[in-house]
Amino acid sequence: EATGTRITVIDLEGIVLIDTSEDPAVMENHASRPEIHLARETGEASNSVRQSRTLGHDRMYMAVPVVSGGRAVGIVRTSLPLIEVEESRARLRVHVATGGVLAAALALLMAFFFSRRFSARIGEMTKTAEAIAAGDYRAGRKDRGRDELATLAGAVDRMSDQLRERMDTLVRERNELRAILGSMLEGVVAVDREERIFHLNRIAAEILSTRAEDAIGGRIWEIARIQPLAETIAGVLEDETGHTREARITDGSRDRILELIASPLRDIRGDLVGAVLVLHDVTELRRLELIRRDFVVNVSHELKTPLTAIRGFVETLIDDPEIDRETAAGFLGRVNDQVLRLSTLVTDLLVLSRVESEGEALERRPVDLRGILRECAGRLSPESRGRDIEFVLELPKGDVTILGDDESLRQVVDNLLDNALKYTPDGGRVDLRLLRAGDEVAIEVEDTGIGIDGRHVDRIFERFYRVDKARSRELGGTGLGLSIVKHITNAHGGRVAVVSETGRGSTFRVSLPAHEVRD
Ligand code: ADP
Repeated sequence: EATGTRITVIDLEGIVLIDTSEDPAVMENHASRPEIHLARETGEASNSVRQSRTLGHDRMYMAVPVVSGGRAVGIVRTSLPLIEVEESRARLRVHVATGGVLAAALALLMAFFFSRRFSARIGEMTKTAEAIAAGDYRAGRKDRGRDELATLAGAVDRMSDQLRERMDTLVRERNELRAILGSMLEGVVAVDREERIFHLNRIAAEILSTRAEDAIGGRIWEIARIQPLAETIAGVLEDETGHTREARITDGSRDRILELIASPLRDIRGDLVGAVLVLHDVTELRRLELIRRDFVVNVSHELKTPLTAIRGFVETLIDDPEIDRETAAGFLGRVNDQVLRLSTLVTDLLVLSRVESEGEALERRPVDLRGILRECAGRLSPESRGRDIEFVLELPKGDVTILGDDESLRQVVDNLLDNALKYTPDGGRVDLRLLRAGDEVAIEVEDTGIGIDGRHVDRIFERFYRVDKARSRELGGTGLGLSIVKHITNAHGGRVAVVSETGRGSTFRVSLPAHEVRD
């Protein structure tokens, strides 16, 4: 009754024994009822939905066989009006529907909330990634959650940290490399396989008369119109080995000699990616080599001339024992002259080499130039040489002191005075003066001699340069006197100048920085 369920107990013949709704006595045999029939036949619980013949409305029946001692003894049947079932099903549907709608709404709400949060965070991460891509490695670092997205954000952060470190290292290394290449004295040009320049240091830009920003990206042969240079690069790219050669280039007014050293440029795997060219300006080096070669040739020649003469005289003397004393004496006198000449030459060479090697390291002590001039004038005066030349020595009052090496300064005055006397014919005049001009002092040697043609004036200070070789030799000159003067003057921080007119005379002026000038 409490469950609202009708219960009927039926025996195997279909006779109703108990029924909760009707009196069994008035109830017909139930053997034909479908559920009962099925339960009897199969021995299993069976159900059916149909109209009750007893109660007259739709009900649901369930018949279960009752088993005792291993065999069926009867059937218990339950029945519920279908209305109730429908009602409870409808109720259930309402519950399920409400629950479903509620759950869906809740899910939607949560999805909305989470997706809002997620899309905000993903948006944030996208921004971070874009900032990193744009080179800002300090972006991000906001997501502090604990889910997968936070893990991803953490990974992005770490990646950006590592990228920053690597970029910093790369930038530092690149700057170091640039600084090293930039401060090299050689020009460095790097090209790719298509001969396009991708690096050019300052010196290279200077040599190729271009600017790095204009040259980068251009083909080497467009930027530097120097045939040998383009050929060298092309050669390296073709046979993948180093090439070296020299090239003469003319930029503006001057010629330059460049040593071109080109090597293949390879990547880590060893594949050819271009070529690197080192440009070494060897103009000065080649000039010095030439000077040295010339010098050696000149020295040998200068030594050989007197030696040949000496040999000639000596051989004649040896070959002809009958030679008369007078001729022999004459020959010996000539030998003596040549020996003196050799000795002067060797002395001058030694002085020159000493001045050249000591250079700036010359001893510097206060020297009174008046004393030196007086001393030299005394030794080299025309009278002492038996010449008919008027000689005037002009000295200022008081000390004229400079910082220098007295021995070398004596050499300067000796050489200038010696030249003036050598190149001034009898009847002429030589003036030796000491002057003060501001913070400089000047030694001036003026003569009324043969003078020097304008074409030669610039060259007379070169070693072995003489306007008239034969005349200089005849007068006992070595061609080294003025280069010694120039070297010593330069080593004292001074300069030497000459004003001359052919046939009228020359004035040599040596200017030196004054040390202390007292009246
Ligand atoms: P040298 O031993 O031949 O005199 P120097 O070096 O002293 O060598 O001089 C170089 C050349 O300069 C001389 O050969 C000469 O032609 C010229 N020269 C030097 N001094 C004078 C001068 N006072 N007058 C004319 N020519 C001079």
